[in-house]
Order: sequence, then C-alpha cells, then structure tokens
Amino acid sequence: MSDISVVGLGEMGSALASALLSKGRSVTVWNRSASKASPLVTAGASLAPSIEAAVDASPAIMVCVSDYKATRDILEVAARSTSFSGKLLIQLTSGIPSEARELAEWAAQHQAEYLDGAIFAWPRQIGIDAVILTSGAPEATALAQPHIDLLGQNVSIGEEVGAASALFSGALAYLAGHWIGFAHGARVCESEGLTAEMLGETLARIAPALGEDNRHMGKVITAGDYSLPESTLRTAGTDIGRLVHQAMARGLSTEFPKFAADLFARAIEAGLGAEEHVAIAKLLGPQR
Ligand code: NAP
Repeated sequence: MSDISVVGLGEMGSALASALLSKGRSVTVWNRSASKASPLVTAGASLAPSIEAAVDASPAIMVCVSDYKATRDILEVAARSTSFSGKLLIQLTSGIPSEARELAEWAAQHQAEYLDGAIFAWPRQIGIDAVILTSGAPEATALAQPHIDLLGQNVSIGEEVGAASALFSGALAYLAGHWIGFAHGARVCESEGLTAEMLGETLARIAPALGEDNRHMGKVITAGDYSLPESTLRTAGTDIGRLVHQAMARGLSTEFPKFAADLFARAIEAGLGAEEHVAIAKLLGPQR
C-alpha cells in the first residue's frame, strides 16, 4: 500500500504528486496517458497499471484532472471492478459548487469519505506557497489534512462541500477581468510606445493597495453600505469612458472598455453615481 494515490498527471496533478513524493509520502500515480508518469516514477512513485489498481493501492485518492465530468468518468470505471468503501476521496479538480455536491453524493453512495478542494496557485507554487481551500465533512477534513498540509497553505472553509468551489468561481470571475484588463492595458501602453512589461511592473508596485482594495470591496458589499466612497462610481465611470475614445483613436478593440464603460454608465443612470465603485454589484443580481 502507498500513503496516497494521485490520479491525473497534467501540469497540476504532476506538481501535486511531485510535492507529496519530495516530502516523504509513498505515492502511487495513474494517468490516462501513462507516459506522463515517467518523471514521477523516476522520482520514486509507483505507476498503477489501471485506475482500479490506483484506487486499491492507497487509503487516500487525490484527483486532479480537467473537470468533474472526467473525474466522474474515471471513478465510474474504477467502481465497476473495485470498492471505494472506507477510502478518502480528495477532489482538487476545479469546478462549480453543484458539481462538488454531486460528487460528494457519489462518494457517499460508494461509502467513501469526500473532501472537495480548489487550488489557488500555479503548479510551481505547489509544496511552497500554494493556497488550497477545502470544504467537506470534519472527518474527511481531518483525514486529508496531513496530505494537503504538504502542498501549501491549507485553508478549510467549512462543512458545506460546495464552498471551496464557490470561492474558486468567485476568484475566477475576478481573474477574468484581471486577465482581459491587463491584455487591453498592455495594448494601450504599446500604442503609446511603452511596453507591457512596464505595465506589469507598475501594477506590481501597487499590488499591496490592490490587495487591500479587495478586502475593502468585500466588506462594503457584505455590509450593503456603499455610502462612503473615497472615489465615487461617477468618477471611475468618467475615467473608464475615456478608454473607449482612446482605443478608437489608436485602432484598438473597444470591446472590453465599452463593456466596462456601458456598465458604469448604466449604474450612474440608475442613481448610483455618488456611491462606491462596487455598487455596480446592485446591477448584477440581488444581495443575499
Ligand atoms: P492539464 O495539464 O491539461 O491536465 C489535464 C489532466 O486531466 C491530464 O492528466 C489528462 O489526462 C486528464 N484528463 C482530462 N480528461 C480526461 C478524461 N476524460 N479521462 C481521464 N483523464 C482525463 O490540466 P492542469 O493544468 O493539470 O489542470 C488540472 C486541474 O487543476 C484543472 O481543474 C485546473 O483548473 C486545476 N488548476 C490548474 C492550475 C494550473 O495553473 N495549471 C491552477 C489551479 C487549478 P491526459 O494526460 O491523458 O490527457
């Protein structure tokens, strides 16, 4: 028996298996394309010849593949010829809360403990400074802790099994704006003879303030009190509106600035101009 089996050896699964091995765990690995296991086998992992063998090899099964459908397909194949009874299933594949709840149900039907997790890190951070959020029953959380602690900062956020995926989805929505915004900003800078690298350096300089702004926005939206802005939604909306003209003048796509400018304009029309920037949330759904 190994301590743990890692299923899925893409960029992230390989990083997980590698960190567990380097920190002294005995690890069995399985991947649909077996060739990806070679570096891990060289580093001391055992390669399972089948997914059933990977499940049989360890009391804990850590899964990290492309999505929950792939996870489910893999587990269904294994369940045809082996038992999950008494196993700990740790799902570190990214997904949405309903998928986490469905997989937890599947695990319960197969008498397995289930912990759902979401990785907030690049593969290179695993075993160093990765942040991994987990949610699930206390028994599963306690069983998984010795493994997940080796992978980074292990943040348990409670029993509701969909909670880690919910926070991952929220963070992904934020990152979608971050990636598109950076890419558009890079083109703006280039159109003025500067480099994207200079934009990256500038944003890195203000990263601590941006981190604090995230905390502040969270508190404001949670309290539902948008009445004390340091800068009003109207001011930001006017600034963002200029990005559309700038993009047109430089022959850039207006898609992203127009989307943002239109949303701010709608918020101002709705009477939110004197409030915090994140009063935009009022246009995006009811507060619960
Ligand atoms: P990846 O490099 O593309 O690897 C995908 C893995 O899923 C491979 O092992 C692949 O097997 C397997 N797979 C896909 N469909 C399958 C199927 N139907 N049956 C069996 N295996 C299947 O992706 P990754 O970057 O490792 O990402 C894995 C998970 O980690 C994702 O949920 C991702 O959101 C999450 N994550 C990744 C990062 C990151 O920076 N990479 C960061 C945070 C979270 P084959 O090798 O046979 O194709």
